[in-house]
Amino acid sequence: MRRHLIIGAGNAGLSAARVLARLRPEDEIRLVSHEPWVPYCRCLLTYFLEGAIDREQLFNWGEQIIKECRLNYQAGKTALEIDFENRRVRFADGDLIRADTILVATGGEPKKPAFPGGDLPGIFTLRCFNDALQMQKRMRPGGLWAIAGAGLVSLKTLVALREKGIEIELFATSKRILSQVLDRPGSKLAAARLKANRVKINPGEEIVAAQAAAEQKLLLTTSTGRELTVDGLLYGKGVTACGPIAADNWGADEASGKGAAGADGLVVDRRQACAEGVYAAGDVAVVYDLVSRRPGRMPLWPTAGEQGAVAGFNMAGRPCLYYGGISCNSFSLFGLDFISAGFRKLQAAADGWQRQSTSTDVGYSSLIYHQNELKGFILAGNRTILKAGPLLAEIKRNCLSCS
Ligand SMILES: Cc1cc2nc3c(=O)[nH]c(=O)nc-3n(C[C@H](O)[C@H](O)[C@H](O)COP(=O)(O)OP(=O)(O)OC[C@H]3O[C@@H](n4cnc5c(N)ncnc54)[C@H](O)[C@@H]3O)c2cc1C
Repeated sequence: MRRHLIIGAGNAGLSAARVLARLRPEDEIRLVSHEPWVPYCRCLLTYFLEGAIDREQLFNWGEQIIKECRLNYQAGKTALEIDFENRRVRFADGDLIRADTILVATGGEPKKPAFPGGDLPGIFTLRCFNDALQMQKRMRPGGLWAIAGAGLVSLKTLVALREKGIEIELFATSKRILSQVLDRPGSKLAAARLKANRVKINPGEEIVAAQAAAEQKLLLTTSTGRELTVDGLLYGKGVTACGPIAADNWGADEASGKGAAGADGLVVDRRQACAEGVYAAGDVAVVYDLVSRRPGRMPLWPTAGEQGAVAGFNMAGRPCLYYGGISCNSFSLFGLDFISAGFRKLQAAADGWQRQSTSTDVGYSSLIYHQNELKGFILAGNRTILKAGPLLAEIKRNCLSCS
């Protein structure tokens, strides 16, 4: 019997546990999370905030897997340090656990505001269930919230708050919203949708300070000198790797290549291994982007699951390789659906890059080709997005045939 330790009960950790439970039913599989709950589907947090799903639906996913796989799951257990050489993990409760294989699947941690007053009550990041519970306490119809950052989690939260009858001011550092996942016309379409739903967008304006105000509100000062009193502020400026295990506590030894920390995450090989018997998967891992052909973190639910499954196979002693992921995002803004993948913008036009774009009454589509091979797309509009599946498969085929 072998002992496996999985740190982190997100999609990466649970996917690995599932594979291990199937392939090595006789082994001990220990799954720990520093959160005090059974695992839940993080992607659904905004739907929980909105009231579209209840607590039971949020947790159902993790409960089912733990039951089906009969996993030894421990909540509220925080890993502090990993000894890659001896495959040991030190925990906050004083435990020192040694295992034959270890998976680091500790996900990501949202960046925190650095401006004065950035740690006041009422300023939130949304990463875990507890954040959602705390936010709910300040959500009231007719209230006003500010959202700093115009990325995916910010906009999913914005929709949830708006559906609850809350007024929103959106502060986007860049001149356009969703700039990582949409091109200029796509951003324009998204911005128009927000404005039509009474969201005030402040491009280029930033929040520079916060103070406590009467009735538990916050007084925000912006980069233009404007003052704004709000019920809450959601700070959504991205995620760094790994949650509470700080990079300098990974016990990383760059010289020997054990647990090498790079590009703000754990660098893994194609087996998802970062040291002998130690694996990393999900938002914490630096993996290969099949489209850009560069290493980087790919903080997405499906890719976390793919990597976790590959790690699980290798932990079970069945060699398996992960060739890399394709960044793909889908979301809906007040009933208008978007999906984009791979390269969203033209690279160098002279170098064989081409774009085919069409705008119709029902949507927008932009296809990016390099030397006549599809490398990315943006689709918007409820019927237009139906093309996404075959296009994504085509990109994957093109990437795998040349990797
Ligand atoms: C609100 C929201 C909406 C999202 N929407 C989408 C979406 O629509 N589509 C999409 O693809 N992605 C979405 N994402 C991103 C997606 O949820 C993540 O990419 C995915 O959850 C990553 O999975 P993971 O297993 O790597 O890490 P996580 O899900 O972050 O899980 C990490 C686990 O590690 C545990 N942990 C961390 N540190 C320690 C420690 N020191 N000791 C013990 N345990 C620890 C945590 O408790 C947790 O159990 C969203 C994320 C959020 C927050």
